[in-house]
Order: sequence, then C-alpha cells, then structure tokens
Amino acid sequence: MIRFWLIALAMLAATSPARAADRLNVVASFSILGDFVRNVGGDRVDVTTLVGPNSDAHVYVPTPSDAKKVADAKLVFVNGLGFEGWLSRLVKSAGSKASVVTTTTGIAPLKLGSEADPHAWQSVANAKIYVANIRDALVAADTAGAETFKSNANAYLADLDALERDVREAVAKIPESHRKVISTHNAFGYFAAAYGIEFIAPLGVSTESEASARDIARIITQVRAARIPAVFLENITDPRLMGRISAETGARVGGTLYSDSLTGEKGDSPTYIAMVRHNIKALTSALGP
Ligand SMILES: [Zn+2]
Repeated sequence: MIRFWLIALAMLAATSPARAADRLNVVASFSILGDFVRNVGGDRVDVTTLVGPNSDAHVYVPTPSDAKKVADAKLVFVNGLGFEGWLSRLVKSAGSKASVVTTTTGIAPLKLGSEADPHAWQSVANAKIYVANIRDALVAADTAGAETFKSNANAYLADLDALERDVREAVAKIPESHRKVISTHNAFGYFAAAYGIEFIAPLGVSTESEASARDIARIITQVRAARIPAVFLENITDPRLMGRISAETGARVGGTLYSDSLTGEKGDSPTYIAMVRHNIKALTSALGP
C-alpha cells in the first residue's frame, strides 16, 4: 500500500506544473506583451505586468513596487521603439541584473511623425515576431524548459495564423472604397499597412480634450469631402455631437477600438487575440455593406 502511494506521488510530481519557487520570474512592460509572454511561458514562468489593463504605457510613472518587481526578475520584456521611455531608468534605479529583452527586434519599424512608431503589435504578422523573440529569450534563460516553450510557442503561433486569416477575410468583405475611417487613435499604422484600412486623423481636432462644436463642423466637412464611411471618435462622449456627424454626413459611428492595452478579465478584450477580433468586428460592422 505504501509503495502504491509512493508511485502515485512520483507520478503526480512528474505531471504537475513547476512549483512556484522553480518558475522563472519575468516582467513584461505592458498588458499585451504580458499576454504574449504568458502564452509562451505557460506554467514554467511567473509573469508580472507593469502597466496593467486600461492603462497608458506611453506616459506611465513607475511605482516603488515596480522597482521591486524588476529587481526580482530574471528577464524584463519590453516593446522598445521608444514605447517605454521610463523603463531603462527603472531598471537602473532598481539595481536589477535582469536581461532586458526587446521583443520588436527584427520588425521593420514604421514612422509616426519623425519617430519610430512603437505600435508594431497591431499587425498580427509582427505579433508572431514578438512571440519568436519571447520564445528564444525564455529558452536561453531556462534551457530545461526549451521543449515546453517551443511547443507553447508553436501552438500560439498557429492561433495567430488563424487570427490573421480571419482578419484578411473580414477586410476582403468590405468594399474597397469603404476601407477608411476617421479615428483619433494614432496607433493603427501597422494595422493599416498590413490590412489596407486607412486611418485618417480628424483635421485640427485635439485628441486630448472633448471636441467643440467647431471641431464637429470641421469633421463633417472632412467626412463629406473624403467620403469617409465611418468615424471612431472616442473622445467625443456627447451623443448629440456624434448624432450630428452621422445625420449630416451619413457616416456610421463606430464603437471602441483597443490599441495600446487590453481590458480586464471581464472586459471585451482581455487577451491580444480577443482584442484583434474585437477591433476587426467593430471595423467591419461600421464599414461593411
Ligand atoms: Zn500608443
């Protein structure tokens, strides 16, 4: 009987995930990257995300607890391309010996104004490069987990392939002349380049504050002149102003597009794949025939 229990325990130990103490401690700078790292690391990795859901990594101010997280980490995964301007100072001040892994290495950067556009994850093909970089860094840091990381990465890459096929199919259903929107987001450059939907900034409208009546008049002129079929203007919260745009131009008013962060678990974009699916659904329902 004792022997039976010993065998059962040994089997349990062989199949159960790595104990918390054995797991590789890593940090991801923001929520989308944290999701990638979790998918590749699985049970062998403890992932802490610095900039959580619904937060803006561009303007993030690190806290003392972030310094502690970075100090304890073996790897720190970052986007790079100027996205996390606050990060190198944080790593230095934390006295961290962590290796900083730039997950956009190998991606051809687009421009946003005169700077590199950091939002490379908005192309699913690029997301696959992030995943390969994460896999390689995890394998190098924990060679015993190499097979696990490779098979996790392969499964996730297959999901990303399916996602990209769906995005292309969805865009193909939108009439070509309809593939443009006005949006206050400047984060969809890679998406636009990859899938052929044009994102046009509203002329002379501040993205920081609530739009004025004059802003609305300008947008109406712009939508008419360029025959833009839909507007995504999340900083206009007054439904009467949005109603005026659609009444006077016939343009549809689209919903929320997620760009730089995921939502919480209960939101509609808790993972990268859910976020891309949400965005493409919002775009196709606003632009479709
Ligand atoms: Zn951004």
